[in-house]
Parts: sequence; C-alpha cells; structure tokens
Amino acid sequence: MSLVVALSGGIGGAKLALGLSRVLPAEELLIVANTGDDFEHLGLSIAPDIDTLMYTLAGVANPETGWGRRDETWSFMAALEELGSETWFRLGDRDLATHVERTRRLRAGESLSAVTADLCRKLGVAPRILPMSDDPVRTRVLTEADWIDFQDYFVRQQCRPVVRRLAFAGADAARAHPDFLAALRRPDLRAVVICPSNPFISIEPVLSLSGVRDALASCAAPVIAVSPIIGGRAVKGPTAKMMTELGLSVSAATVAERYADFLDGYVVDHEDARSVEHIATRVFLADTLMTTLDDRETLARVALAAADELRR
Ligand code: GDP
Repeated sequence: MSLVVALSGGIGGAKLALGLSRVLPAEELLIVANTGDDFEHLGLSIAPDIDTLMYTLAGVANPETGWGRRDETWSFMAALEELGSETWFRLGDRDLATHVERTRRLRAGESLSAVTADLCRKLGVAPRILPMSDDPVRTRVLTEADWIDFQDYFVRQQCRPVVRRLAFAGADAARAHPDFLAALRRPDLRAVVICPSNPFISIEPVLSLSGVRDALASCAAPVIAVSPIIGGRAVKGPTAKMMTELGLSVSAATVAERYADFLDGYVVDHEDARSVEHIATRVFLADTLMTTLDDRETLARVALAAADELRR
C-alpha cells in the first residue's frame, strides 16, 4: 500500500483529483479539501469546494457551471425570489438537499469530516475527501473599501473588488484534520500533489493551518504542484487578477514561489517553460489544460511519474 495526498480547491483542483481517482486505487488516494470558502447562508452550512469535489468524483457535477449538480431544477430559488429573499448565491433543488442534510447533521453534533465521508459514500465516491479541518476557517478579503467575506467577494460581487490582502479567520485556532497530518507522516507516502487551484484562496487556507507547511517540508514523499497558470493566464477564475492586484507577476513561477519552502517538483505547461527557467524547483513540462477525461488521467499520471522520478 502507498498513499497519495492531493490538496485541492474547487473546479481546477477537482479536475485533477478526478484524474488521480481514475489512475489510483481508491484506498491509495486522500483528497484534502479547502474549507476556507465555506459559509453559512440562509441558515445552511455550505462547503463549496467539498461539494465540487464530491459531485465531480460522483459524476453528478454540472459541466456547464463547474459548481452544483447536473440535471438541476430551480424551484427553490424561484420560490425564494418570490418571497423577496436573498438570491445572489444560487442553490439548485438537488444541491439544496446536500446543504440541508449537512446542516442538520452538523447541528446534531457530527463533524464536517464525518458528514462528508457519509455523503460521499451515499453518492458513490470511493476515494476519501477530507476537509482540511473540522474547525471553521473563513477566508476574508481586504478590498480597497473594507474587509469582506469570501463569498461576498467571489459570488455576490463577482470578484470585481480589487484585492489588497487575504486572511483566514479562525486558522490560528483551527486544527488541521488529524488524519491529514497523519497521512503526511506516513512512511509509505508516495506523493503529495498540490492540484492546479488558486494558490491564494484554495491552497493557502490549507497551508495556514498550524503544522501543515512543516509537515509538507518534512514528509517522506516528494511534493509536486501542478500550475494553475497556463500561457501566463488563468484558465478560469480570479487567480491572474489577484496576482496583479497583489503586486505579483502573473506567471507560473509566482505560484511556485508561494510553495517554495516545501515544493520538490512543479508540473508546468510547455507554454510556460521560459517563465520557470529561474526557479529552484525541478520542473516537469506537460500539457496541463484538462479538457477531456483523458487529459485529466494523463496529467494525473504525469504528476505521479514526477514524484516517482524525484523519489529515485
Ligand atoms: P475554485 O475553488 O473554483 O476557484 O477552483 P480552484 O481554486 O480549484 O481552481 C481555480 C484555478 O484552476 C484557476 O487558477 C484555473 O486557472 C485553474 N484551472 C482550471 N482548469 C484548469 C486546467 O484544466 N488545467 C490547469 N493547469 N489549471 C486549471
């Protein structure tokens, strides 16, 4: 037995997590999900990255939106609108069931990891999806005006505000999930894969938990990141916009610099070869745009092969 630990946010990360799930036996993959995007809305506990991962691996994700479920209906949303309630965060009818069930069970005292494990089992997801922590961590965004909640920035304001800083409220007190830290200590750890996710809002919340950076730096296996920047641009979402606003250059190299203290290998698109010439980490060039299912599997194999090569 060996184990691969994958760190992931939502859409970009879930693509590679799906690839990994198809080339590894289920018991050899642990997917650690960012929970910094989690929030409470309409009285419900919503965990967007966990759900994107869960729906993607269950084969029920909505391919058009990248969030929520396929074959969705919207009666709840329409009724909510009629009542004059808040409708900026879209919750489809099927998706709603996930949030209602999660909220009910969290209120009854179950942990987020236990609820997630059970929802995954019910949806037929074989590899384990583990929240980075069972304690609440909430990403906050400093805009030119004020600090705002992440989903206010991301969904309600559609990433329009200029980002000055990010903070992870609760991270000081939150404990990284013990199974996550234990996995990083395993002598048979094969690789840690940092999925192509937004470093600032999907991976750094995970890294902000006490002990995680040190555990990554000292773990037995190579730590491999896959660049979320292709051809100097983000495939989707605000990664590039954030880099500019934070005064960083928009490049694959910038992402590697954020992980410099623990990174052993960096999978970068052929298009970005020049931009990573100067970085200290070993670079593996590949086609990193995942359009088809095949692309996801191929890139997963590239990341694993990079780890295996570094290990030798
Ligand atoms: P979010 O939680 O929904 O924002 O999703 P993530 O943080 O997981 O992913 C957002 C990042 O994924 C963006 O920076 C995208 O550039 C990147 N991304 C999306 N699709 C791909 C892809 O096919 N290949 C690579 N390399 N990156 C991708």
